[in-house]
Amino acid sequence: MNTNPNLREPITTPAAVVERVETMLVDLPTIRPHKLSVATMDGQTLMLVKVYCSDGVVGIGEGTTIGGLAYGGESPESMKLAIDTYFAPIMAAQDATRVQAMMARIGKMIKDNRFAKSAVETALLDAHGKRLGLPVSELLGGRRRERLPVAWTLASGDTAKDIAEAERMLALRRHKIFKLKIGAKPLEEDIAHVAAIKRALSDRGAVRVDVNMAWSETQATYGMSALADVGCELVEQPVASAAALARLVRRFPIALMADESLHGPESAFDIAKIGGADVFAVKVEQSGGLFNAQRVGAIADAAGIELYGGTMLESAVGTIASAHTFATFANLQWGTELFGPLLLTEEILLQPLSYRDFELVLPDGPGLGIELDEDRVKYFVRDGARKSIHAAR
Ligand SMILES: [Mg+2]
Repeated sequence: MNTNPNLREPITTPAAVVERVETMLVDLPTIRPHKLSVATMDGQTLMLVKVYCSDGVVGIGEGTTIGGLAYGGESPESMKLAIDTYFAPIMAAQDATRVQAMMARIGKMIKDNRFAKSAVETALLDAHGKRLGLPVSELLGGRRRERLPVAWTLASGDTAKDIAEAERMLALRRHKIFKLKIGAKPLEEDIAHVAAIKRALSDRGAVRVDVNMAWSETQATYGMSALADVGCELVEQPVASAAALARLVRRFPIALMADESLHGPESAFDIAKIGGADVFAVKVEQSGGLFNAQRVGAIADAAGIELYGGTMLESAVGTIASAHTFATFANLQWGTELFGPLLLTEEILLQPLSYRDFELVLPDGPGLGIELDEDRVKYFVRDGARKSIHAAR
């Protein structure tokens, strides 16, 4: 007999158990090449997961990376393999209504794999929200805001094109915060690029940069000083090392944000302990799920570190999961960059997400509050209809 109260079996039969877990890879084109210092993306691959429960409810989740394996140790393909081979048997016949207990069970048997865990947790929360008739944000403690400011990334690699794109976004009233991807070119060229864009936008748009770890600490010292001079308000992860970030922070009149250094609550605590950043770019996938992203937010709040809702350039599924999470944050001083779906040429929802007046509007429906367009998904699924059409030509 099991005497450990923490491990005791539920007294009643669960209302719903997991019957089946399905995964698929969906390849979608992007509106333009997206140039980062680590990779150039010409398309995006989503790993979608569906959790089928015994009460007929189906939850969906997404795992997506930036540039395949260019950003971290997981790829959409590796997530699919991990979930099919290892997650699904652990989840089978388990209580689908106890999401945190299910994630703890998975965590005990599966190390790392934060992105895959995030996708599965999203699907479980979507299902449970649908079951209870509540949005995911309510399952996470309740939203504090209905709309989230959304920054846009200018990453065409061309200054004039970037300025024209920013002007379009301002005219559409879709974005007024612009993040520039730099670090691939010589430093002086990058600074001139940022200066030209800030000059063109003036006080009509905020300018921030993401270096994606491309600089040495010496380059960052020069770069951050120069960026502050041209009116850039924030620099994201200029160097790879967390120790170097800590040495750079508060030396220049420009906010320093940690992104790639943040891998969930433990790393958030490590950075907070040494006062190693002004701002955290919280990413739900990087954190290992929605609950863990909330834990990162709580650590930042306790340490006086400001918050920004980051993206892994997910499609609408992962984007809205992040939105539900960030909507519950006590502080979100730097807004979000939840523009992933806008970078894709194809809509995969029956009802597209609502971006207006520079903000993303949270849906009110149960679960994630979105519905997949199954025909579109089927068309773009890897080795699906689209491939057969191409092969027939
Ligand atoms: Mg970044």
